[in-house]
Amino acid sequence: MEKICVAVRVRPPVSQDSSAGTYWNVGDNRISLHKLHGTPISGLSYAFDYVFDESCTNAQVYELLTKDIIHAAVEGFNGTAFAYGQTSSGKTFTMNGSANDPGIIHLAVEDIFRKIQIMSDREFLIRVSYMEIYNEEINDLLSLENQKLQIHESLERGIFVAGLKEEIVNNAEQVLQLIESGEVNRHFGETNMNVRSSRSHTIFRMVIESRGKDTKSSDRYSSNDAIRVSVLNLVDLAGSERIAKTGIGGVRLKEGKYINKSLMILGNVINKLSEGAKQRGHIPYRDSKLTRILQPALGGNAKTSIICTVAPEEVHIEETKGTLQFASRAT
Ligand code: ADP
Ligand code: MG
Repeated sequence: MEKICVAVRVRPPVSQDSSAGTYWNVGDNRISLHKLHGTPISGLSYAFDYVFDESCTNAQVYELLTKDIIHAAVEGFNGTAFAYGQTSSGKTFTMNGSANDPGIIHLAVEDIFRKIQIMSDREFLIRVSYMEIYNEEINDLLSLENQKLQIHESLERGIFVAGLKEEIVNNAEQVLQLIESGEVNRHFGETNMNVRSSRSHTIFRMVIESRGKDTKSSDRYSSNDAIRVSVLNLVDLAGSERIAKTGIGGVRLKEGKYINKSLMILGNVINKLSEGAKQRGHIPYRDSKLTRILQPALGGNAKTSIICTVAPEEVHIEETKGTLQFASRAT
């Protein structure tokens, strides 16, 4: 079992004049709350594999938290990288980036194509899919007709989302274009696109298949040995804030319940995985769509990392603590 790499990233304060940064101290891969309502406190401190302060770039996060997963994926190992945190803490900024700071997905895609170019002894086939889980329903972001998809399992394919569109891609630009069109699909019919995207889990997936270019042997069986298939998931989770904050009831309440449940199950699965083989026992992958879909790329020899994003402002202290507790359970 691979160790799960867990990091925390504190985003810059939204408003310039905010004294936000003084509530949380970052240093030595630790994050500590040292002031509450203006009063210094001590004792609340958490350590992780990495803790990034507001000056950190997506490229740095990629380098320390994702690059190894991507390189292993090219070599045939499954992998998953998550962004977890309350709405507005920087999950999407981390995964999708901005104009002058490309996100994890962008950097991963470019890295993969750079890598496979060098591996001239192998032939690659790369497929991309992009989906969201909204209220426990799986929707295809690459094809508007593909809504409410079901999860199936078969001997040949393992666990898969039936009917999910998989686009074969040959270069990074093509992938980034697909993602852009996926974003357009997601926002279709939404009055407030930000609300919807923060209420759903988004899974960007690449299936990387390769075989050795064995020119000497035409023997199917021996070249079969050399086939590698790996699945890479880059996941932007739904906002982890508690329901009460979102308020009002009705649709929002229903969404909140689904989100809390699936994030709790994800936490349980990751907690079990990080406990190590002996104590582990039953892992509740089947309890949510998210963990079921990700099952083949979580645990075993799959590589996993979690970036937990937090907001520095005082109003968010309780949610930040919640996120740090989730992160602690994962280590
Ligand atoms: P989330 O996806 O968690 O809801 P976003 O990624 O949309 O949060 O971030 C909320 C806002 O903060 C956005 O305007 C985003 O550009 C900004 N932001 C988040 N993280 C950073 C960062 N590390 N550096 C600069 N701006 C950031
Ligand atoms: Mg977001």
